[in-house]
Amino acid sequence: MNIANITLDTLAPSWLPEQLEASILRLDKLDPNISGNKWFKLKYNLEAARSEGRQHILTFGGAYSNHIAATAAACREAGFRCTGIIRGERPPVLSHTLQTAQDMGMQLEFISREAYRDSRLSFENRPDTYIIPEGGHNAAGARGCEEILSLLPTARFTHILCAVGTGTTLAGLINSAAATQTVTGIPVLKGAGYLEAEVQALLRPGQTSHWQLLHDFHGGGYAKVKPALIDFINTFFAETGIPTDIIYTGKLVKAFRELIHQRYFADNSKVLLIHTGGLQGNLSLPPGVLSL
Ligand SMILES: *Cc1c(COP(=O)(O)O)cnc(C)c1O
Repeated sequence: MNIANITLDTLAPSWLPEQLEASILRLDKLDPNISGNKWFKLKYNLEAARSEGRQHILTFGGAYSNHIAATAAACREAGFRCTGIIRGERPPVLSHTLQTAQDMGMQLEFISREAYRDSRLSFENRPDTYIIPEGGHNAAGARGCEEILSLLPTARFTHILCAVGTGTTLAGLINSAAATQTVTGIPVLKGAGYLEAEVQALLRPGQTSHWQLLHDFHGGGYAKVKPALIDFINTFFAETGIPTDIIYTGKLVKAFRELIHQRYFADNSKVLLIHTGGLQGNLSLPPGVLSL
């Protein structure tokens, strides 16, 4: 895990018009497991656990969750015991994500989908345990993401684009963006109309930057991977050498191209894409589908 690995790369795919400038902040280079934004969401949660004297981290997720993989790796690095409460029955063969998390020392507990929703309650009041909500979605998570834009010089950008799951990362970006910047979130879930309120709840009082969620780029819904997305990811990598993932960042860059076609950006806009990582999720695809 090394913050100094993060770079700000100029982005110049063939479809970028001359009147626009684009760069991508490569949080994916931080670490193969504690990938991208997940480290920033965990940072102040782990710090709170430590200062409260709790040695055990407990969190929640699905079989392909980047958050589960990142929590396992970060807890190993920081010396916490950790448990992942996983939605669904234990499968005969663990997904790549879950196997990696287990290999890094995470205790996996599987619980039925019905019980999962309210399961947090049954783990509260354990004095040694610090609970991180699914996806790292809390104020400490957003606070960590407020540090992303100051890693490298990003003040000159007019637009900031980021993929959205829970909206925690986006909230951190909005809280730390300049009033002159527009922060645009691309939800990867279908029917995620609740997100506006969830993001709003994590914003600091009085923050003034412009932001919006664009709900038309989920590509069929969460973890739906259509052939057009695979083609896009492969072509984008061949052209730029930048790998993207099938759940979040592939959809983000594809949305960027579609927004250019829609003339969403005024001439001379300078667009910053946040590469939030997630590349470990690509390993759940059969080999050979992606040529990264
Ligand atoms: C989890 C994740 C996101 C979504 O972050 P939120 O803070 O939940 O919106 C985006 N990109 C990648 C690669 C992720 O793993």
